[in-house]
Amino acid sequence: MKKISILDLKAQYRSIQKDIDNAINSVIKDTAFIGGVHVQELEEKIAKYCNTKYAVGLNSGTDALYLSLWALGVKSQDEVITSPFTFFATAEVIALLGAKPVFVDILPASFNIDPDLIEKKITKKTKAIIPVHLFGQPARMDKIIKLAKKHNLHVIEDAAQAIGSEFKNKKTGNLADIGCFSFYPTKNLGAYGDGGMITTNSKRLADTIKMLRNHGSVVKYDNKTIGISSRLDGIQASILVAKLKYLDKWNKQRKTIAKLYNEKLANISFIETPSEEKDSKHIYHQYTIRVKNNKRDNLRKYLLENGISTMIYYPKPLHLLEAFKYLGYKMGDFPQAEQASLEVLSLPMYPELEKDKINYITKLIKKYV
Ligand SMILES: *Cc1c(COP(=O)(O)O)cnc(C)c1O
Repeated sequence: MKKISILDLKAQYRSIQKDIDNAINSVIKDTAFIGGVHVQELEEKIAKYCNTKYAVGLNSGTDALYLSLWALGVKSQDEVITSPFTFFATAEVIALLGAKPVFVDILPASFNIDPDLIEKKITKKTKAIIPVHLFGQPARMDKIIKLAKKHNLHVIEDAAQAIGSEFKNKKTGNLADIGCFSFYPTKNLGAYGDGGMITTNSKRLADTIKMLRNHGSVVKYDNKTIGISSRLDGIQASILVAKLKYLDKWNKQRKTIAKLYNEKLANISFIETPSEEKDSKHIYHQYTIRVKNNKRDNLRKYLLENGISTMIYYPKPLHLLEAFKYLGYKMGDFPQAEQASLEVLSLPMYPELEKDKINYITKLIKKYV
């Protein structure tokens, strides 16, 4: 029996082992462990890649979101609108600042926030919107930006899953006030530890976030404000510089794999393959299907019995999590997010995934029919 994991980081390491080993060794030789030349190099390269003026390296994608809201002045009693169908951190950081996460349901086809439902949730307290580019497909940023302008709101992209994706030929990270990326090892551009980054065209925001990541200081021991410690380390930065060269190729390979899955899984009555919206370039951080008719959990079990691991992103929408109980939402408030959580199944997806494995997976799914 073949074993196929949802992700194979060893396959990627094998394919670029020299680059990675050299990158790590160069940091050790330079002893540039925290911040320093390698972090600077990565910041310059990511800014160039996203076509933004600035990029600031941080400890994680979570901190990127957190410090973005902080730098934009979001505080206690403010409201921030986001999707209930995302990773917990997106809304967690809103609450961490004492502000209130306000959820807006998703579009069933893309799993991204439905821009047409946002306006009715805007109040006098609303300060920002955080659209999430879920699974690597950009949210409908044109409508979101238009609304934000009309109501004088900030927009922060949660692009943790979407580095290299585009909306109307513009890179994510360059579509709003600030873009937030995660370099968590499983992401499309993954470090060998934690890492994150913000991108922006605002010097003020870039400078503020640089200060906040370093205990509120620009000059050592001359702290200007209260901040935190959220630095990117040199080894991670050098690994990411080495990997960035391959990102476009890997994202293309993901797309090819998604196409193949789409072809093989077409015409199965209870399966919906992911759709790509006309304005967006999807980079398939996840290849996520919908399994209808309550068959998802059994199909997942069947695949696992045959050696194939899959994941459910996400089994519970945020408004139904215990952590957000205090917000007072209930079942039925966001029907699309709730239905998605019952139907989604993410299949193995990584650039090195071979054709014969995809054939094997899709044959099994057909057999399950
Ligand atoms: C991974 C992820 C984050 C958090 O990034 P970390 O680097 O793990 O802190 C935030 N939002 C989304 C949508 C993510 O997928």
